[in-house]
Amino acid sequence: MSHTRRAALALTAGALTLSLAACGQSSEGGSKETKTGGKGSTIGIAMPTKSSERWIADGNNMVKQFKAMGYKTNLQYGDDNVDQQVAQIENMITKGVDALVVAAVDGKSLSDVLQQAADQHIKVISYDRLILGTPNVDYYASFDNEKVGVLQATYLIDKLGLKSGRKKGPFNIELFAGSPDDNNTRYFFDGAMKTLKPYIDKKQLVVRSRQTALDQVTTLRWDGGTAQKRMDDLLTKAYSSGAKVDAVLSPYDGISIGVLSALKSDGYGTKAKPYPLVTGQDAEVASVKSIIAAQQTQTVYKDTRALAKQAVQMADAVLNKKKPQVNDVKTYNNEKKVVPAYLLNPVSVDKSNYKSVLVDSGYIKASELQ
Ligand code: BGC
Repeated sequence: MSHTRRAALALTAGALTLSLAACGQSSEGGSKETKTGGKGSTIGIAMPTKSSERWIADGNNMVKQFKAMGYKTNLQYGDDNVDQQVAQIENMITKGVDALVVAAVDGKSLSDVLQQAADQHIKVISYDRLILGTPNVDYYASFDNEKVGVLQATYLIDKLGLKSGRKKGPFNIELFAGSPDDNNTRYFFDGAMKTLKPYIDKKQLVVRSRQTALDQVTTLRWDGGTAQKRMDDLLTKAYSSGAKVDAVLSPYDGISIGVLSALKSDGYGTKAKPYPLVTGQDAEVASVKSIIAAQQTQTVYKDTRALAKQAVQMADAVLNKKKPQVNDVKTYNNEKKVVPAYLLNPVSVDKSNYKSVLVDSGYIKASELQ
């Protein structure tokens, strides 16, 4: 530990820490002088929200894996509140964590607090969502985010029969995107739009609302209720003449559930007026149940256990002065640097493969789907 860091710790954490620091101990992390990175080090894990089950799983998976390797952990959830997350990370720095793993609420708002981390020589792993606008991000663990959008859009054009040319359309589609402050949103949407655009250009897909630009279709904080309201609005404004929605590009299961509620209130879900195709992401239990019940049509599975493993591997490597494993060193420019990344593979899931992909792999228990 640097002198600056030890001094800051001693000043902020009071007399007890001061006396511990004097004999080479921190209040949390064990002996700092003798540590080689593993046992006794503390990892601060800042997750964005508990409102979606994936982040709860991400946090728990990392705690389990770090603990198994002899690390201590400090796991905090930001309740989708930027200030709260910044305060939590500040507090972790004050307490003397040795590395940080952060999934940001707002990718652009962490520059100051991560400068504090850098001043204390704390390494930072950006988790799932890229942290933007700061050089103080060491590595990034995520999925191939553009591919998520490609999978969702490809599913739609395939099931509509457009991909094979079996059907010509036109079909009505509406588009939803994620939170504007999440860097992933752009990647998901770009991947989807690059796939849908040729069909929109040929008018085989028609966006009756005409809302096709990213800033017209985002959903602040990925909130299902917000998506439900927007879908209500779209149905009133663009479909009251009797036209039907054939497909909805939804980037996340919570948004899909909101969209489906609006559709249901509008009379969809009957033989005469079946639900449109609705995509999703995360393979959340509620959405897999909805897929089984033939409401939501598809989701994108991202194995959070594997993501946690990558982040743990990265933190362990940097703390042991080794090079973490990465497989992408060009895609993720955070406006200050290209952050070396390890990207995992997302998988499209629907009624035909949810059992083999989700249940057989132990990601979801069969009993949870009853
Ligand atoms: C994640 C998605 C998730 C969304 C909402 C994104 O950053 O990559 O997996 O659905 O946030 O929580």
